[in-house]
Amino acid sequence: MQKINILQTLIQEQNTEKNIFDLESKNYDTLNASPEIKQILNMQAHIILEQKKYIKSLLDKPFDFGNMLLLPTENSYKSRKEVDLHVSFSFPHSEKKASFIPVMASNMDTIGTISMATALRKEEMFTCIHKFYEHSQLNNYFSSLKKEDPDAFNYFAISTGISDQDYQKTTALIDKNPQIQYLCIDVANGYMQALNDFVQKIRKKYPEITIFVGNIVDKDRAKTLVELGADAVKVGIGSGSVCTTRQEAGVGALQASAVIDCAFGLHELGYGYVISDGGCTNAGNISHAFACGADMVMLGGMLAGHKECFDDTPQIKQDNNGNHYLSFYGMSSEQAMKNHYQDWENRMEYRASEGRVLYVPYKGDIAKTVNAILGGMRSAMTYTGKKSLHDLRNASYQIGMNNNGLNYSLLMKNLSDNNQRQI
Ligand code: 5GP
Repeated sequence: MQKINILQTLIQEQNTEKNIFDLESKNYDTLNASPEIKQILNMQAHIILEQKKYIKSLLDKPFDFGNMLLLPTENSYKSRKEVDLHVSFSFPHSEKKASFIPVMASNMDTIGTISMATALRKEEMFTCIHKFYEHSQLNNYFSSLKKEDPDAFNYFAISTGISDQDYQKTTALIDKNPQIQYLCIDVANGYMQALNDFVQKIRKKYPEITIFVGNIVDKDRAKTLVELGADAVKVGIGSGSVCTTRQEAGVGALQASAVIDCAFGLHELGYGYVISDGGCTNAGNISHAFACGADMVMLGGMLAGHKECFDDTPQIKQDNNGNHYLSFYGMSSEQAMKNHYQDWENRMEYRASEGRVLYVPYKGDIAKTVNAILGGMRSAMTYTGKKSLHDLRNASYQIGMNNNGLNYSLLMKNLSDNNQRQI
C-alpha cells in the first residue's frame, strides 16, 4: 500500500527541472519499510526520473513517427493471437463507456464513407463518417441500422464543420437520429475562437453525445477544448499524407511530439482523450502513435485506394502497364472544393489549397489491409511485452533524428510531383 501511494505521488509530480531535482534528492532509507520495498522504491524513482528527463529532452527536440523505433523487452507472450487490441473508454463529458479497437477512418470524403463504416464495424474499429453526405443518404443508412444492427452506432461518429449551415444540418441529423453517439467537430485550424463557441453550443444542447474536436497540436489548446466540452481532441496539423500546410503556410508540428505534448496536457488536466490524426504511413507508425500517448489513431492515406472508399463502383484508372489506381485527395484540395462547393472558385481565391490530389494503387477489399494493420499492432505488443494498447505508452523507444522531420515533408513533396504515392 505504502509503495503504491508513494509511486502515485511520484507519478503525479510535474515534468519540471525543480521536480526532477526534488525526485533526485528523495531518500527512501528514512521510510519505515522493508529493505526490499526500499530497494524497489529507489529503483522505481530512478526509472521515473529517467523517463521524465528523457521526455523533457524529446520535447526540446521535436520528432516524427518516422524518427522512432519501439524497443523490445523480455515478456511472457507466446503468440500474437493472445493480444487483445480493444481499449475501454470512459468519456468525461458524455459519461459514455465504450470499448473498440481505437483505429479510425478519417472523416475525409474518400475515407470516411458509409461502406468503410460498415466494413470497419465488423472488426470493431471506428469510422468518422464525412460531412458531405446528403441528409437523405445518412437518414436511410441510420434507419437500416436501427432495424438491423443498432450496436453499429457505437462504432462511428458523424462529422461537422462550424458554420451556421453545419450547425443546422448536424442538429437536424442528431434530433432525427438520437441513436447517434459520437460527433466529430473538425476544422483545419482548431485555434479559432469560433470553434470554442461551437463546442460549447453543442455540448450544452447534447450533454450525452461524445464529442471529438480538432485539429490542434499543443497541450494548452488540448486542455481548453476538453474543458469546454470535448471528450477527445484530434491532434495533427501539417502531418497528413495529402496535406501541404507545412509547405504552403509554414505551419504545423511534428506529429509524435504533438501527440506527446497533448497527452501530457490532458494527463495534467486529469481527463480527456487524444486522437492522433495524420502521419501514419505504415502499421508501425500506428503503434508509435500509441507509444506517444495517443488513445486513438485516425488514418487517411493508409486506408485509401480500397473498394470501400466509395459507396458506389469506384472509378478505377488504369495506366499503360495495366496498373490500377484510385484518386485520393486532401479535403482542402481544389478537387475537394470542386466536388462539394458550387462557389469553389471563390473559395480558392481567399483560401490557399492546402491539400493535394494523388492517385494511389487500387488494393481492392479493405479487409486484407485491416488484417495487416492489426497484425502489425499485435506484433508491436508482443515485442514490447505490453498487455494493452493503452500500456504501449510505457514502451521504450529510440529516436533517430533527420533534420527535425524536414526530410519527410520533402519526400512527400517529391512524390506528389509524380502525382503518385505508394502507401
Ligand atoms: P493521413 O493519415 O493521410 O496521413 O492523414 C489524414 C489526415 O490529414 C486527415 O484526417 C485530416 O486531418 C488531414 N487532411 C485531410 N485532407 C487535408 C487537406 O486537404 N489539407 C490538410 N492540411 N490536411 C488534410
